[in-house]
Amino acid sequence: MNDTPQGFDTLAIHAGAAPDPATGARQIPIYQTTAYVFRDADHAAKLFNLQEIGYIYSRLTNPTVSALAARVCALEGGAGAIGCSSGHAAQIMALFPLMGPGKNIVASSRLYGGTITQFSQTIKRFGWSAKFVDTDDLGAVAKACDRNTRAIFCETIANPGGYVTDIPALARIADKKGIPLIVDNTTATPYLCRPIEMGATLVVHSATKYLTGNGTVTGGIVVDSGKFNWSASDKFPSLSQPEPAYHGLTFHPTLGGMAFTFHSIAIGLRDLGMTMNPQGAHYTLMGIETLGLRMQRHVENAVKVAQWLEQDPRVEFVTYAGLKSNPYNKRAKKIVPKGAGALFTFAMKGGYETCVKLIDNVKLFSHVANLGDTRSLIIHSASTTHRQLTEEQQVKAGAAPNVVRLSIGIEDVADIIADLDQAMTAALA
Ligand SMILES: *Cc1c(COP(=O)(O)O)cnc(C)c1O
Repeated sequence: MNDTPQGFDTLAIHAGAAPDPATGARQIPIYQTTAYVFRDADHAAKLFNLQEIGYIYSRLTNPTVSALAARVCALEGGAGAIGCSSGHAAQIMALFPLMGPGKNIVASSRLYGGTITQFSQTIKRFGWSAKFVDTDDLGAVAKACDRNTRAIFCETIANPGGYVTDIPALARIADKKGIPLIVDNTTATPYLCRPIEMGATLVVHSATKYLTGNGTVTGGIVVDSGKFNWSASDKFPSLSQPEPAYHGLTFHPTLGGMAFTFHSIAIGLRDLGMTMNPQGAHYTLMGIETLGLRMQRHVENAVKVAQWLEQDPRVEFVTYAGLKSNPYNKRAKKIVPKGAGALFTFAMKGGYETCVKLIDNVKLFSHVANLGDTRSLIIHSASTTHRQLTEEQQVKAGAAPNVVRLSIGIEDVADIIADLDQAMTAALA
């Protein structure tokens, strides 16, 4: 082991990867296999008992998926990680070891619209619930945490409003309450922000977005800091007490900092089956090799486009934390010092009608329900991704009917601006 910590771009290319022991293949092979041959009956028994670590069945672990999990874990500075079938699956997987019927989470009211729906509707079927609060109001966050609260959940840079979350402040509240802070780091990526260094316990990702980076994959990741003491209270019995779902194993006392990760594999992936596939993991691994380069260009372009929009008389406002005029600019310098991402909204004068015409007139931008692609993307959140929300929830989430969301790509910035310019002209004609 080399003791000098390696830099981000080095880890993005090398972490989790070694030449394939069987063939010497330099790139990580796509291990397209369901099962793995046991050496003998004793080996099989040891694997099932977690006495020896190895591959059993690809619903649990797969070498290509494990390489990706190890890479994202290294980039986030975590202790363990798992791959999941989507970002939404990762959110359920992050909550699963912590929750039970009657338990709740305190979540930011400014989350990705799909997450608000998942938390306000679907998790109720499990007997879980979410209380949504404005995470800028730290008093309200603390007050919302009750004896049944099992986590605080936020996004680093909230999609689509571009709000930057004060992660250290939320981590301090979580600490005081003896619960973990879960941060969805999808829109920032570990290149712009490492939430674990700011006190987060768990980090979740939609690998669908910037990690893969080119709109080819649906995937998710959960990273655990390994630092939370699950046995400090009786709040997390699945980790601190004998777990009946795994022949009475007590995960935290036995496995320490790897308790959450092993629980997620041995029970979560085993029984919920929200597993990432090796082909998807391969694409994401390819994407991550250039994550640093791409994020630099994404941010550079986003700043230029936001500045151009802000000075244009056809524009009412731009919500990009990278702009000096933005109320989150000061916080952005602390939380995401390398840049406030490449996702923001703006409102054109003329409201809803003009927004819709603008979207119908772009040529370089793609009108899609995705973000974090190399390509520039545009969408009217209120009528699409945030459609299931009430207008009040839309406004709170930063997706009011008069704004469009941009995900700025890594094309030549002059072409991105020229496309918006011609579409705005057409929208007002
Ligand atoms: C897209 C997204 C998700 C959901 O991820 P999927 O891979 O689409 O399931 C969660 N959080 C954020 C911030 C997202 O942008």
